[in-house]
Amino acid sequence: MRYSGFKVIKEALTGHKGWKPAWRDPEPRPHYDIIIIGGGGHGLATAHYLAKVYGQKNIAVIEKGWIGGGNVGRNTTIIRSNYMLDGNEPFYEFSLKLWEGLEQDLNYNAMISQRGIMNLIHSDAQRDAFIRRGNAMMLNGADAELLDAAQIRKEYPFLNFDDARFPIKGGLAQRRGGTVRHDAVAWGFARSADSHGVDIIQNCEVTGFRIENGKCLGIETSKGFIGANKVASAVAGSSGRLMAKANMRLPIESHVLQAFVSEGLKPVLPGVITFGAGHFYVSQSDKGGLVFGGDIDGYNSYAQRGNLPVVEDVCEGGMAIMPIIGRARLLRMWGGIMDMSMDGSPIIDETHIEGLYFNGGWCYGGFKATPASGYAYAHLLAKGTPHETATAYRFNRFETGHMIDEKGMGNQPNLH
Ligand SMILES: Cc1cc2nc3c(=O)[nH]c(=O)nc-3n(C[C@H](O)[C@H](O)[C@H](O)COP(=O)(O)OP(=O)(O)OC[C@H]3O[C@@H](n4cnc5c(N)ncnc54)[C@H](O)[C@@H]3O)c2cc1C
Repeated sequence: MRYSGFKVIKEALTGHKGWKPAWRDPEPRPHYDIIIIGGGGHGLATAHYLAKVYGQKNIAVIEKGWIGGGNVGRNTTIIRSNYMLDGNEPFYEFSLKLWEGLEQDLNYNAMISQRGIMNLIHSDAQRDAFIRRGNAMMLNGADAELLDAAQIRKEYPFLNFDDARFPIKGGLAQRRGGTVRHDAVAWGFARSADSHGVDIIQNCEVTGFRIENGKCLGIETSKGFIGANKVASAVAGSSGRLMAKANMRLPIESHVLQAFVSEGLKPVLPGVITFGAGHFYVSQSDKGGLVFGGDIDGYNSYAQRGNLPVVEDVCEGGMAIMPIIGRARLLRMWGGIMDMSMDGSPIIDETHIEGLYFNGGWCYGGFKATPASGYAYAHLLAKGTPHETATAYRFNRFETGHMIDEKGMGNQPNLH
């Protein structure tokens, strides 16, 4: 079923009786060409591009819970491509370009809003670093713009410009960055993959791999064994746990990251703001709530909830940059499990086990990567070679020491 304005009007006039479920609820078949483990953004995007771009037909996505229940539905919805290093910037810019055409590609309203992102500058040294980053972005075809304090004040009058502990001295803007309704991304990719014949199997946990003579023959699940020519892990925060079942130890730790939403306010923030003297980022949802977050909780955990010291730390960041936030009531908060790689950059690669592939290590930046990650993983699965934008995302960089040590990412952001 194609969605359109005409269809919405027709259904409104005929009692909304013609809508069909957005995807089927099939039972698993005994064997698939490709099985993707994890029905998050990355797994569903991989299925979509495998079917639509690479013409693969016999695919299943196996999800232990429900579509959108993982980090794809828990993040703070920010997309951008303001990275600096060569291994990263072309990949994230490719992703931003895919976001720009995604709603048409999926025939689904994901509320993609290029409202811009502003990284605030609080010292001269930070300005130098951001100028360098902006130049690296432009060399890779991305947009970047340096603003002074007066220009920022015009756009964001509600920030603290007058008596702040860390005065705002300027900002690096990426106007094409912004926000996307996160769970609509999962639903849009799921609906499209399903319409291309992908079986999306929910409430089915992968409990092990069947590996014989160094080759992966399929997966053990709570619904029994399912065979496959290729098995592709895309379970984000559960990567360490899942790959341990194939006796693999990853250069990844799992940490909690929390997100917060305030009660609805009148429009105060036209775009996304990041505070450069602490760790705090905030945007305003279309319903009016301030959506914000900060640091990871700082200890290894598979719990999808965080603890109070980080709540205090995040709120301090908010008060430092935007004191009016202290008058707003907090409506809800939650946590997600982050797959923090040791250099802050992801892995999209085959493993040493034939037929077993891995996608993970997204840290707290994997939402913006969703389309490019799916595209690059689909390319690897279909062609057997890395996509041109993901050639650096191999396991062996941790052996050879060719880290992609992007500043501010990784499990110890302050050390990068
Ligand atoms: C609070 C928070 C804020 C964030 N903010 C941003 C942001 O603003 N911008 C940004 O770019 N990124 C952000 N991120 C990071 C981003 O959300 C993640 O990096 C990204 O969503 C991870 O990929 P995914 O969508 O595929 O993961 P998930 O949605 O977590 O998908 C993995 C799926 O695998 C399933 N699974 C796990 N184990 C098994 C198993 N054994 N069998 C079957 N299925 C299994 C899980 O149930 C889950 O549904 C944030 C994350 C959090 C938690």
